[in-house]
Amino acid sequence: MNLVLLGAPGAGKGTQAQRLVAEFGVAHISTGDLLRAAVAAQSEFGVAAKKYMDAGELVPDQLVIDLVKERLAADDAQKGFILDGFPRNTMQAVTLDSELSAMGRELDCALLVDVPAEVIIGRLSSRRTCRSCGYTGTASDETCPSCAGEMYQRDDDKPETIKNRLDVYEKNTAPLVEYYRGQGILKIVDGDRAADEVYAETKEVLGL
Ligand code: AMP
Repeated sequence: MNLVLLGAPGAGKGTQAQRLVAEFGVAHISTGDLLRAAVAAQSEFGVAAKKYMDAGELVPDQLVIDLVKERLAADDAQKGFILDGFPRNTMQAVTLDSELSAMGRELDCALLVDVPAEVIIGRLSSRRTCRSCGYTGTASDETCPSCAGEMYQRDDDKPETIKNRLDVYEKNTAPLVEYYRGQGILKIVDGDRAADEVYAETKEVLGL
């Protein structure tokens, strides 16, 4: 399974990815998680990325591409991978295709988790994330239902940043739907439902 997950921020890509990873043992490559880990570690790279992330802008392509290349080469990604949050623009998509082809690999599918924009705004505003395990919950979760860790609101889930993230998505990332449709590997699931239902349809469209 070599999969790209497409969809607006808050569409539920991470939740679907975590379930596929738990069931099928492929690598979950979330560029947002990798970047947040670099920010938390206060590495030079993390410091450089933070200002873009806080503003809801895309981090420069080369920084993210290097991260993804390293993860694709790791042992756990040899059996298959789910890219979550990458590619985010056509430049990244074209680079991904050429890097995979240099490795003798290719994408099986680009899966769009489709959720209307008005639903996304509500979801992002109430989203809370576990500081310890990354679980995604809502404002009603006082502690993490998965590991009892502390839940917090990501800086970029605050109202002032959400609008810009959605604008960036529409302008840069949404065109990738046509890019992958053109390659004949696009599949779509309706993401405006409970996570269990979305997961059932995800497995169905992926033939799993
Ligand atoms: P996410 O958790 O996927 O919503 O990503 C959070 C933030 O990390 C984004 O708003 C961007 O600032 C940055 N980011 C994540 N993935 C990428 C990417 N593929 N290219 C550029 N920036 C990214």
